[in-house]
Amino acid sequence: MVQVLLKRKISPRIANGHPWVFSNEVDKVSGSPSGGEIVEVFTHDKKFIGKGYINPKSQILVRLLTREKQDTINEEFFINRIRQCWEYRKKIGYTENCRLVFGEADAIPQLIIDKFNDYFVIQTVALGIDLWKPAIVKAINQLFKPKGIFERNDVPVRELEGMQQQKGFLSGDFDTKIIINENGLKFYVDIENGQKTGYFLDQQDNRRAISNIVKDAEVLGAFTYTGTFEIHAAHYGAKSVLGLDISDNAVKQATENAALNNLQDIVQFKTANAFDVLKQWSKEGKKYDVVMLDPPAFTKSRETIQKAITGYKEINLRGMKLVRPGGFLVTSSCTNLVSPEMFLQIIDMAAKDARRKIRQVVFQTQSADHPVVPGIETTQYLKFLVIEVQ
Ligand code: SAH
Repeated sequence: MVQVLLKRKISPRIANGHPWVFSNEVDKVSGSPSGGEIVEVFTHDKKFIGKGYINPKSQILVRLLTREKQDTINEEFFINRIRQCWEYRKKIGYTENCRLVFGEADAIPQLIIDKFNDYFVIQTVALGIDLWKPAIVKAINQLFKPKGIFERNDVPVRELEGMQQQKGFLSGDFDTKIIINENGLKFYVDIENGQKTGYFLDQQDNRRAISNIVKDAEVLGAFTYTGTFEIHAAHYGAKSVLGLDISDNAVKQATENAALNNLQDIVQFKTANAFDVLKQWSKEGKKYDVVMLDPPAFTKSRETIQKAITGYKEINLRGMKLVRPGGFLVTSSCTNLVSPEMFLQIIDMAAKDARRKIRQVVFQTQSADHPVVPGIETTQYLKFLVIEVQ
């Protein structure tokens, strides 16, 4: 097996359990491994670190799959790992829908599997994991007897690994517009053409966190996608709910979801640029009891982090101005580079500029089927905050 020797000064990141080895951390590679091949990684003085897959085309040269020398990386290995992922999800309370595999957090780097009742959506974002797709599909078939498996590898990062973007069936054809149950509600999920894997499971626990504050409230939601938070608000007793999204298609699906739950008289959706509308309405002095914001990630690179901070401050400032005294702002950030502390600071700055006093009601991360692993920073990415705005 090809051996990868690290430089003398080993990064604390690798020592602390992070599975990535960057090419500039490597001293020597024995032989000339092909892309995706399983290799062994050692310290400069030949202490075993782990086994993983290599991609000479990627800046992240090796991603470790195990730290156990006796592990053999084969089909059985992936079936066992995926079984463990499912056992864990069941143990922490997920039955119908969950992120079954959350890449690095489940020690299967760059693999995402979302389970939507009997349907499975997978992403294999690195070459080394893509090669194991047949084993992954076999594992899903063995463990679940699914009605369908679909690949959503239409993600640009695959190109950094020398792969193409692609999507399609990994099982027999099926109708890719399915229905899932969540917190007693039903939602259409468009597995083939929806955003990411079709549905944002990472907010599934957080959607319940609004249950008390929306009672009898007039609610405004922005960045609604298929309307999940807004439909939850109506379900939990809001008087009226308006949801805004810039995508016509999202608004169409959100409207369908409202009707699916017979909540169309309470919740309405409109196509709009939330940045413009929030600004205009806050100037006009419009007021709501609860305002909910869930924008897409504002940046993925450190160079533009300041722009992201400004963006968050801007929308949260506008959002707060639209809240009646004693009402609530429900606000999220999925930008990985914005830490929880930084997000709280941004909200504090926004409150000062809006001249509103705030109190924290809830502050949490993504739902528990997306585990956070200390030492692997990218596993904690979502910030979900509810504040009272006085
Ligand atoms: N809250 C949703 C997820 C939102 S994803 C859920 O829980 O499922 C972010 C959404 O913001 C996307 O649907 C995208 O179309 C929308 N969006 C992006 N820019 C926008 C803008 N300027 N105004 C309004 N919506 C926007």
